[in-house]
Amino acid sequence: MRRIAILGSTGSIGVNTLDVIRAHPDRFEVVALTAGKQVDRLAEQCIEFKPAIAVVSEAADAARLEGLLQQNNISTQVMYGPSSLVTAVTDSDCDTVMAAIVGAAGLVPALAAAKAGKRVLLANKEALVMSGNLFMQAMNAGGGELLPIDSEHNAIFQCLPNNFTKDSSSQNAHLGVEELWLTASGGPFRNTPLDQLASITPEQACAHPNWVMGRKISVDSATMMNKGLEVIEAFWLFGLPLEKIKVLIHPQSVVHSMVRYRDGSVLAQLGQPDMRTPIAYGLAWPERVAAGVKPLSLTQLANLSFSEPDLSRFPCLSLAFTAAQSGGAAPAVLNAANEVAVAAFLDKGLPYLQIPVVVEKTLNAIATGKADSLDSILQIDAQARKVAQDFIKAL
Ligand code: NAD
Ligand code: MG
Repeated sequence: MRRIAILGSTGSIGVNTLDVIRAHPDRFEVVALTAGKQVDRLAEQCIEFKPAIAVVSEAADAARLEGLLQQNNISTQVMYGPSSLVTAVTDSDCDTVMAAIVGAAGLVPALAAAKAGKRVLLANKEALVMSGNLFMQAMNAGGGELLPIDSEHNAIFQCLPNNFTKDSSSQNAHLGVEELWLTASGGPFRNTPLDQLASITPEQACAHPNWVMGRKISVDSATMMNKGLEVIEAFWLFGLPLEKIKVLIHPQSVVHSMVRYRDGSVLAQLGQPDMRTPIAYGLAWPERVAAGVKPLSLTQLANLSFSEPDLSRFPCLSLAFTAAQSGGAAPAVLNAANEVAVAAFLDKGLPYLQIPVVVEKTLNAIATGKADSLDSILQIDAQARKVAQDFIKAL
């Protein structure tokens, strides 16, 4: 029986995780659930799964959650605030943590799971982008397993040899891995005339053609910042040099990513665009369980196509490559500026085309420095947010 804590259980990944768990009560037990503000949804989840611990962000929401649970005779311990997210990891007796909070808010509890030697199912890519080296060191020190949930990285993980190690490229040399190919749908504006992009609304940006996801990652998919963050994520997860990590536009989202080998072989993982597949893979690894996903029918697909991304259409992708090459604190700055810009866009306080402008200005203002401790990362994150907000105010 695996004992699971879900950080961000009320979000898109969280709900899909519970859907897989629901189908396998003999294998998985939910011991902790956390949410930001969605008290009613979290209450329903607690009533169904009876975790030991539930966490929300604010005290008032915790009081309301407690009331709802008492009415239903549920004895879940209710807590609130950022430090309680760590408690949900360390004190719930979990062995597996689904890290599915969106953005930098997920970093500290994900790091706590890494240090505590848990099996970490990583959806929260921003945490790894911000803290790359530190996070991988924490995983090593903790001795747990890091399994990628992001569909591209999960695909690559499935296509790599079992004895591939993420921290020693010399040990991997004989395995013949030449390149990782991350596929990208290109989002809703892949073919939109460039002169129409200026008036894009949040609703249009969040209407992804293939995937149903949270609002922040939907905007990131539209700008392709998501793919940029994923390049950095792949760099840390798999330890290959950046020039061996390539991005391919593949509008059908059927091939979830590929590994090219020295002998000419290319291994791909295919499937429906349904996150329950990588989630089930991570939960049950190294076994495989039913995920509730309908079988893939290749004969019903008209075609599978691939092309190079157009960097002039997707400046965020190019900014992410630059930040990845700079290393140090630059990816944390990139991430923070992007989170601020996307939140402003979703609030209708920033035009769509200004998202890359804010990110670039922030990177130019502060992208130097190291990111070798949690304190320094949190400090640079806060600094980048302030700079990005000031740029937005000045527009
Ligand atoms: P979402 O917005 O649907 O859910 C986010 C969750 O985090 C919610 O439970 C929310 O309550 C919680 N949360 C938000 N802010 C918080 C805060 N400050 N403190 C505590 N909790 C907070 O997002 P999502 O689409 O489920 O994405 C989650 C993560 O998974 C993101 O990092 C995203 O990039 C990654 N991811 C998502 C998908 C997908 O298909 N949705 C695919 C790949 C990777
Ligand atoms: Mg992805």
